[in-house]
Amino acid sequence: MRFAAVSRYDRATMKKLILAVLAALLPASGRAQIRVITPSVMPLQGPTAPIGTSLGAPSLGAPALAPVLLPAPGVSLETAPLRLVLAGPPGAGKSTQGKRLSAEMGLPHIVASDLLREYAKTDPAVLETMNRGELVNPELIIALVKERLSRKDLQKGFILDGFPRRLAEAEALQKMAPQIAVDAVIFLNVPDAELLRRIAARGRPDDTEAIFKARLATYRSVTMPAIERLAKDVPLLTPDAASSDIDAGYANVRKALDEFISKR
Ligand code: AMP
Repeated sequence: MRFAAVSRYDRATMKKLILAVLAALLPASGRAQIRVITPSVMPLQGPTAPIGTSLGAPSLGAPALAPVLLPAPGVSLETAPLRLVLAGPPGAGKSTQGKRLSAEMGLPHIVASDLLREYAKTDPAVLETMNRGELVNPELIIALVKERLSRKDLQKGFILDGFPRRLAEAEALQKMAPQIAVDAVIFLNVPDAELLRRIAARGRPDDTEAIFKARLATYRSVTMPAIERLAKDVPLLTPDAASSDIDAGYANVRKALDEFISKR
């Protein structure tokens, strides 16, 4: 019963109650030093600041000294969001590196082909296109990415993997700015021979040698121009991801990104 009654009080009332009890308990000489501070609701200034209420003040609850919490020198309270596009030829390791980067940096990993696979549950023709190694219709992937980027979980940024892949997609992405302006493009640099080796080891439906070669050709003629278009406005990081040792490739990705972040 007692608890129920107390919980009905608001913060200000509770503060007054505490102050009144303290005032009754402490000798007059100690009162001037007592202040109740509520950092979580602390405005920097303003007549209604319900903080720093001094027992020595003429009326209880009147604004008094409002302590301001400043960050220690060199410590920033806010970190700028990091919005990355992860690009590279088929088999470059976008998915593997993207997953790890996402886990380490705490950024959502948005994978274009995952969005498409989810959509394909209601439209199997989309999966057939993907399995043939062809790009899906740009309107569809643009709409899916746009919807995903409009959700509320991207305050810290994101890693956008496999988008854009066409000029129209790159232009659409840039039109989605400024709310989701991309900060950098990470392009995984891997020579063809290593790509072929990885693809052969993967065994996806679109990983046969013939389909892979077609995907690589599409990559060169259609996707590279889209990345180049994006890179006109956005810094392009090109870590060497050629090593068959995933950790070594990741170390290069991380190094390139850390350098970029330190110069921002
Ligand atoms: P990925 O897993 O990134 O290799 O993509 C697998 C397949 O999904 C591609 O071969 C395309 O069929 C489709 N796809 C993924 N991203 C895109 C995109 N941005 N535009 C068009 N098709 C895409």
